[in-house]
Amino acid sequence: MLIVAACNPANSQVAPATPVEGDSSSTAPTETPSVGDSVELSDEAWHARLTPERYHVLREGGTERAFTGAFHDHHASGLYRCAGCGAPLFSSADKFDSGTGWPSYTRAVEEGRVREVRDESHGMVRTEIVCAACDGHLGHVFPDGPAPTGLRYCVNSASLVFDAQEGETTDTENQP
Ligand SMILES: [Zn+2]
Repeated sequence: MLIVAACNPANSQVAPATPVEGDSSSTAPTETPSVGDSVELSDEAWHARLTPERYHVLREGGTERAFTGAFHDHHASGLYRCAGCGAPLFSSADKFDSGTGWPSYTRAVEEGRVREVRDESHGMVRTEIVCAACDGHLGHVFPDGPAPTGLRYCVNSASLVFDAQEGETTDTENQP
């Protein structure tokens, strides 16, 4: 059986990676987009960047099963970023236990980070939330959250990566 090698040129030894200068390395997929930035990749590039589960949620609007994600019962202090583009989306300070099995927040970390889209799928009218930078599907926002906003941003763990705050030693991923 022939292996299809044609589309995978043997550039096995790429030139030595340039040392990362100065600032943060190796957690977010790319440099962090600013508010208002737009991250657009081809479908192929998203497939290459994301795991199948993350691709399904972020790019196809999928929903992980309740209580199966990494963050529904996660209480470390830090920042939750978009798993697609690295944009900061939610803070642990706004996270609460909704009991739904998905990580839930009362608001986005910053104005302009999360965009709302009317969603009439599945015979319901809901408000979908997407990453404002890369349009990745995050989840939905519901008007039944606690103070101070009364909102519940219900998010798939698969849409998120977690950045522990400095001084915390609770990170479980982002290790090489
Ligand atoms: Zn994003």
